[in-house]
Amino acid sequence: MYLIDTHTHVYDHQFSLDRNEAMQRALDAGVKMMLLPNVDASTIAPMLELHEQYPDCTRVMMGLQPEEVKEDYKEVLSLMEKELERGIYVGVGEIGLDFYWDATYENQQFDAFETQLDWAKQLGLPLSIHCRNAFDKMVKILEKKQDGGLRGIMHCFTGTEEEAKVYLELGFHLGLGGVTTYKNCSLKEYLPILPLERIVLETDAPYLAPVPCRGKRNEPAFLVHTAQKIADILQIPVEELAEATTKNVQTLFLGL
Ligand SMILES: [Zn+2]
Repeated sequence: MYLIDTHTHVYDHQFSLDRNEAMQRALDAGVKMMLLPNVDASTIAPMLELHEQYPDCTRVMMGLQPEEVKEDYKEVLSLMEKELERGIYVGVGEIGLDFYWDATYENQQFDAFETQLDWAKQLGLPLSIHCRNAFDKMVKILEKKQDGGLRGIMHCFTGTEEEAKVYLELGFHLGLGGVTTYKNCSLKEYLPILPLERIVLETDAPYLAPVPCRGKRNEPAFLVHTAQKIADILQIPVEELAEATTKNVQTLFLGL
């Protein structure tokens, strides 16, 4: 089996004691490629370090996560724009909007998001988009910016059928993770009618571990539980789901 974890933060400090073991467990489980989205200025170095250590099974993205958009976001963005010039990044992420905890930096989040969408267009790179408590505002910006030049993943998608359709119509893929395996997740009800060619898998490790590991620290190896659950819902063999979703990622991110 060849699975791709399209969103994982294995470089996070929560893996400081067993990072190499976690990487090995992922490879042993069939998670042969891991896409690493950046979070803020402080995560660039550990992310690159992990990528240097595992160049064949990791790829890096560059971006400022919306919850980390603060007073100094313009300086952080100019540092990241410089980073992107190195040409080693396969995507722009994770970027987006998040008004879950507070909306103090709402206008800054809009500005940072739009700036980074423009980078993706200019560089022809796919996106990893984070959206929480911001669906309407997200769609408004994406509708404004989509001119055929934007593609990518709505990471950790857990919305309604209507919301899924809006993102699909905008040309995006849906990143399904651990939440899909939770009892109360409504996605299960309409998952079978979604186009399989627009679905990709992710863990968002160390967060949101799938059942039966819910509550534990998440890690890329646990992607197999999410894959199995989705395959069960779709009533297809997990190998078939792995093949389809891996192909989807390879069309989005070139050279994987
Ligand atoms: Zn993330």
